[in-house]
Amino acid sequence: MGWGFETDPEFQEKLDWVEEFVREEVEPLDLVIDHAWNIHDPVWKKLVPPLQAKVKEKGLWAAHLGPHLGGPGFGQLKLALLNEILGRTRHGPIVFGCQAPDSGNAEILAHFGTDYLKKTYLEPLLANEMVSAFSMTEPQGGSDPTSFVTRAELDGDEWVINGEKWFSSNARYAEFLILLAVTDPEAAPHQRMSMFVVPKETPGVTIVRNVHVYGHAERAGGGGDHAYIRYENARIPADHILGGIGQGFAVAQTRLGGGRIHHAMRTVGLVRQAFDMMCERALSRETRGETLARKQLVQAKIAESWAQIEQFRLLVLRTAWKIDRYNDYEKVRVDIGAVKALMPGVLHDVASNALQIHGSLGVSDEMPFGFMIMESYHMGLADGATEVHKANMARSILKGYQGTDDLFPTTHLPRLRAAARTKFADALAADGA
Ligand SMILES: Cc1cc2nc3c(=O)[nH]c(=O)nc-3n(C[C@H](O)[C@H](O)[C@H](O)COP(=O)(O)OP(=O)(O)OC[C@H]3O[C@@H](n4cnc5c(N)ncnc54)[C@H](O)[C@@H]3O)c2cc1C
Repeated sequence: MGWGFETDPEFQEKLDWVEEFVREEVEPLDLVIDHAWNIHDPVWKKLVPPLQAKVKEKGLWAAHLGPHLGGPGFGQLKLALLNEILGRTRHGPIVFGCQAPDSGNAEILAHFGTDYLKKTYLEPLLANEMVSAFSMTEPQGGSDPTSFVTRAELDGDEWVINGEKWFSSNARYAEFLILLAVTDPEAAPHQRMSMFVVPKETPGVTIVRNVHVYGHAERAGGGGDHAYIRYENARIPADHILGGIGQGFAVAQTRLGGGRIHHAMRTVGLVRQAFDMMCERALSRETRGETLARKQLVQAKIAESWAQIEQFRLLVLRTAWKIDRYNDYEKVRVDIGAVKALMPGVLHDVASNALQIHGSLGVSDEMPFGFMIMESYHMGLADGATEVHKANMARSILKGYQGTDDLFPTTHLPRLRAAARTKFADALAADGA
């Protein structure tokens, strides 16, 4: 029997160290640094690298990677336990070298990059000497990749890129973009596109504007973190393709599978933080002669939130365990789809309960609940809309079922009852039934 719900004592010791380190050293960074990915910010440069060095010393740097890429090769289950702690803080992932989208972009470069691309982009990316962006969504539609029109055409020994991309997160801080572009418009829907590495300084690559999302502080230099990018006759070398021509969609799926479960692991941490705040407030605030914790409607919120978090966490951990076990994202597509689809709802519901229990303080920007609730909407869109994930899940699940040609279901009770009576006819006859 392999159904364990305990952490190895040896790994628990590491988690205990991370817990304290994150609380004491990393969480305060969120309150003084403009943006966790802005590695060019002088304050960031002063405060973050010394902490990254401590993480490296502890052997916890880039915990999502195997030893061949400089990580400890913990596997997804241990990573989940680690990410639960890192998810409480925006700087956690970058201090531990496992931040999105760099983690997924590194995965693609490691699998499909040439030696030159690995040397120039992968190595500094893994060392966090540079950050990257993922440029897939287009302004006219994100949920339907077959509607993408950004083109890459081969001209001699260069690809020429033309088109527009939307919401390429952190592109303003990035050194290069991982771009999905159409290489054969006439090909079958999932073979129309290819994946490329585009250095951001390439002539013809322009950030039209950095879209600012509601509830985030305006960044130093203005605007937000999600770039609207125009590619106009941008030329990159022919070998800057990742995977074969027409393989872009398949390459993107490899990357997004891991990314989605990592987001879910971190969300467990964020949502637990909201829950802890809710419990503290319930026990501290008094009204009509007793604490909020004694009010049954408040108790219901606490009980429901706890159950929602634990259900979600167990599914995340089991999914991580399955990834380790099968080492094949195809086999866990439905599980990953499920955690991705559940994630926004859990964060939204628990953060909303926490906000409500804090009353007017809860809606103020002196507490983080408004941010968390907006974040839940980000989670319902980034890496694909919830509805699309649910539809894909249902399609996969239904492959394991068959319809019936009969007018009534195979489980129609009159049919089952008749069959049971035939099976047990002797016993029923003897009993006179
Ligand atoms: C915080 C954040 C960060 C992001 N970062 C990146 C990034 O780094 N790189 C990148 O390329 N993209 C990024 N995105 C974009 C993201 O991938 C898209 O928002 C997402 O794919 C949805 O596309 P869309 O926004 O164009 O919505 P649309 O495709 O216009 O969909 C809008 C809504 O329509 C409904 N809908 C759509 N399709 C279906 C369907 N099949 N069935 C039922 N309902 C449906 C859903 O309610 C959906 O939310 C990010 C988005 C957010 C919010």
